[in-house]
Amino acid sequence: MIRSITQQKPIEEIEQLLEGTGRVFIIGCGTCVTLTQTGGMAQVEAMKNLLSEKGKVVTGMTVVPVACDNLTADILKEFQGPLKQADAILIMTCAFGVQTIARQLQRFVVPALNTMCIGKETGAGEFNEVCKQCGTCIIGETGGICPVTACHKGLVNGPCGGTNEGKCEIDSNKDCAWTMIYNRLKDLDRIDAMRKYQKPRNHLGEPSPGKFRIPA
Ligand code: SF4
Ligand code: SF4
Repeated sequence: MIRSITQQKPIEEIEQLLEGTGRVFIIGCGTCVTLTQTGGMAQVEAMKNLLSEKGKVVTGMTVVPVACDNLTADILKEFQGPLKQADAILIMTCAFGVQTIARQLQRFVVPALNTMCIGKETGAGEFNEVCKQCGTCIIGETGGICPVTACHKGLVNGPCGGTNEGKCEIDSNKDCAWTMIYNRLKDLDRIDAMRKYQKPRNHLGEPSPGKFRIPA
């Protein structure tokens, strides 16, 4: 399953962002952050206890099913009273959920999490980064393996020279991304793709703020 991967911000940062506020409403999400255990009911309750210990009044809390969905606005109507009483809305979702709720409520929102990447669940509680959304996808030429995320150095033109018997020089427990790419291309009888030079990466990708439209 593919997820938006998040990590909780240090509590000192959250406190700093909440500075000057006394009453807080907390919102979690039942999708990605529940799976990654960063914004599900257990984490929302733990945050409530933590903030209460630090002298904040938690006016209410909820975990909406899918924070980034337009339906969140309707679900939050049920909490109008406690939301109104709060000086700040602390949101324990990925940045997409935070922005959705900020737009819907037009209130002072504080993100409690950092949004890291798109990841894939590889085992109970384990997620591997699969895409940085770099905007110039080259996996059509690397056998479907992403070197930007799978290689420790994010190299896009072959291995670094430190690869050792198929393992990465930075983490010998990890397979070298470029050995995996080589093997995959060999199996696919497309080894010539290894010779293709990939242009230097454009870290800007799109002028900001990015806007995308599906051509008519
Ligand atoms: S190259 Fe990798 S990081 Fe870039 S879009 Fe493709 S999968 Fe994502
Ligand atoms: S050993 Fe392989 S995976 Fe590790 S940094 Fe070098 S090319 Fe990348």
